[in-house]
Amino acid sequence: MSTVPVRWQDFDQDLYVGATVVRPGQDPYARNKFNQVESDKLRMDRGVPDTRHDHCRHKQWKTELPASSVVITFHNEARSALLRTVVSVLKKSPPHLVKEIILVDDYSDNPEDGALLGKIEKIRVLRNDRREGLMRSRVRGADAATASVLTFLDSHCECNEHWLEPLLERVAEDKTRVVSPIIDVINMDNFQYVGASADLKGGFDWNLVFKWDYMTLEQRRARQGNPTAPIKTPMIAGGLFVMDKDYFELLGKYDMMMDVWGGENLEISFRVWQCGGSLEIIPCSRVGHVFRKQHPYTFPGGSGTVFASIQSRMEMKKRLGCQPFKWYLENVYPELRVPDHQDIAFGALQQGGNCLDTLGHFADGVVGVYECHNAGGNQEWALTKDKSVKHMDLCLTVVDRTAGSQIKLQGCRENDSRQKWEQIESNSKLRHVGSNLCLDSHSARTGGLTVEVCSPNLNQQWKFTLNLQL
Ligand code: UDP
Ligand code: MN
Repeated sequence: MSTVPVRWQDFDQDLYVGATVVRPGQDPYARNKFNQVESDKLRMDRGVPDTRHDHCRHKQWKTELPASSVVITFHNEARSALLRTVVSVLKKSPPHLVKEIILVDDYSDNPEDGALLGKIEKIRVLRNDRREGLMRSRVRGADAATASVLTFLDSHCECNEHWLEPLLERVAEDKTRVVSPIIDVINMDNFQYVGASADLKGGFDWNLVFKWDYMTLEQRRARQGNPTAPIKTPMIAGGLFVMDKDYFELLGKYDMMMDVWGGENLEISFRVWQCGGSLEIIPCSRVGHVFRKQHPYTFPGGSGTVFASIQSRMEMKKRLGCQPFKWYLENVYPELRVPDHQDIAFGALQQGGNCLDTLGHFADGVVGVYECHNAGGNQEWALTKDKSVKHMDLCLTVVDRTAGSQIKLQGCRENDSRQKWEQIESNSKLRHVGSNLCLDSHSARTGGLTVEVCSPNLNQQWKFTLNLQL
């Protein structure tokens, strides 16, 4: 057996991918929860559109940058997607900046998925002998890395032109910066590569689910003169980022008690900011990622077993002199509205894909419904302990107490019975206490919301995104 590594150009894609094709009659989504047939069709080094801002194309990157170890963990990844990920790294990076690619096979069913790629130049494969989950797998890869900078990627990415240099430049200048590319979208159905907006920051909601936040108008205006400037972000999306290796270790890597998937991006984001570092999105760096709607893998032990002790992590933060979470909320993510201790439910008030919306109206305006946008703003409501449904200091008010009465926004008044509401039927409806009528959207299009005799009608189903009384 030859141990001489092959160049990626000489790797036999058809042999490698051909062994796992979707057979006629099989569901192309079954294994990966994306369309594997479309993924398998593509060449391993297919071209993707250069989605960068024009200004990035003329930029000169420093030539003397530290080399990086690229760490990619995977569990049962489609071979074609995994291969495209590593080929795009090798093809789109200046060779001297990629010291190695460390593939951590998190106990995939077929050990050959990773092992065969180990024949390619620069690729090292580590295989877990049991399922560890992505956090411990990434730490294993990081521990094995020999370069001074770590680059983490998911196993279904495609790197774009000059993706690596701008990331390394920021970290070389300041080791406490943790930086990520703009994450472009690889369509999970047809694998088209689509550029993502450069006006987004990472954030989260109070279910601790990651979300993208649009920059405010002022933030966007401020960027117009300098569209290539780094974007400070409260949160990273997940597994695509570059971080100095020593700094990763100093800050405690990942919490090794975290299992399988999820939450680690919030945890590391809080920790970086609170402990003296910063998070940035670098607009001239673009990497595509296949976003999908379901996990293709199992959660051994279940997805609910999440309450392990965090004492050692708290002690570590103390040792590092980290700021409290309150500091993070006030200084890093001031845009996030923090639920009050007076709130019993909070967030968007959803009815299917629509949400209760002020429609930009103020006092005496009607309210309506609008497609949920997840961005707070006109769709942010709280149900408080004194039974008001509040948007800022405006309250949902029943104009009169008969069925068909319009709902208006009015300044909240402590003892106004027209403003008292409660959740009924497992928090799926809102009943006006004084009239026993229910909030109803059937005339939302014509005259705004009304109250009507309570019924099982879908027009009366409302759910807050966060219920704090549960
Ligand atoms: N992964 C892993 N072990 C696991 C779960 C996930 O190594 O137990 C890998 C997965 O193959 C992927 C990365 O971790 O490369 C992130 O997972 P995924 O892409 O499913 O997360 P998403 O991008 O959907 O948030
Ligand atoms: Mn992913």
